[in-house]
Amino acid sequence: PRLVDSVADGEDTAVEAALRPKDLDEFVGQEKVREQLDLVLKAARARGATADHVLLSGAPGLGKTTLSMIIAAEMEAPIRITSGPAIQHAGDLAAILSSLQEGEVLFLDEIHRMSRPAEEMLYMAMEDFRVDVIVGKGPGATAIPLELPPFTLVGATTRAGLLPPPLRDRFGFTGHMEFYAPAELERVIHRSARLLDLEIEEAGAAEIAGRSRGTPRIANRLLRRVRDYAQVKADGTIDREIAAAALAVYEVDARGLDRLDRAVLEALLKLFGGGPVGLSTLSVAVGEERETVEEVAEPFLVREGLLARTPRGRVATPAAWAHLGLTPPQQGSG
Ligand code: ATP
Repeated sequence: PRLVDSVADGEDTAVEAALRPKDLDEFVGQEKVREQLDLVLKAARARGATADHVLLSGAPGLGKTTLSMIIAAEMEAPIRITSGPAIQHAGDLAAILSSLQEGEVLFLDEIHRMSRPAEEMLYMAMEDFRVDVIVGKGPGATAIPLELPPFTLVGATTRAGLLPPPLRDRFGFTGHMEFYAPAELERVIHRSARLLDLEIEEAGAAEIAGRSRGTPRIANRLLRRVRDYAQVKADGTIDREIAAAALAVYEVDARGLDRLDRAVLEALLKLFGGGPVGLSTLSVAVGEERETVEEVAEPFLVREGLLARTPRGRVATPAAWAHLGLTPPQQGSG
């Protein structure tokens, strides 16, 4: 797996629980979502009611699971965590819903990947706190209505636009999670370093933050690799030189590009003069599958303003030439 992948790997899962902020004050960044959520939760608490259903949209690793746990903690409610792909049948969902306690938070990750029948059951559950459990098959099948205790659904999705409108409309509040600014990632890194009992200098944290692709999960992962390096090669304190040298070993550059990202850019610049070049041709030149280039490498390059997808093919931006320290060819003079 790539060190700069925003999706959790086994090691992340093992250590992330220890690094999760426990309340809204501890949660770094996302000012807008925090402010809005704070109001939603305070109002619910004041009314002595269960909080409205909350939809969180944003890329992996930005803190959606963490926020759902904070919602439960602030409401002093228990939380159940599951995901869309884990709910194959409507019956799976009925089993979960009917076992919820009053006020419980149900976190449904990747909610856009739930099966259709489960989704339809969820509409009714969200709106009326009721489900119809179908017993039997064919003409003899009957629907048995089942009352549910009021609960708070927290749905997470990479893009709110992936949800069918009837589902989207049933959330009282939608929070859009943004990528984090470098200064915010520095705060995440300092906080994690404190929890992991690491010595880190300001410049060391800044160096890691700049390579973390706006994503706390990646920041925490890079911090762990830098810690290893600092322990083995130095006295343990993380300064700018140590952070940069450690991440050079893992081929994560100053902007967070890894070997694959740079291979794509280099091919585009050196072999095709910056493009435009078709995706297939570019992929062959890099020696990777089309899907790998398109889905793994390109999104970050596009987000960073290094590569553009145009109708005529992939094109490098001036920033791409600058980043790789190359000079663009002279535009057809004469
Ligand atoms: P996925 O959808 O892939 O599960 P996610 O958006 O749910 O990702 P989390 O699991 O909540 O992401 O967060 C990943 C890691 O980043 C956790 O270890 C968490 O502690 C840390 N983290 C996320 N957001 C913040 C934040 N705002 N402040 C501090 N740490 C954060």
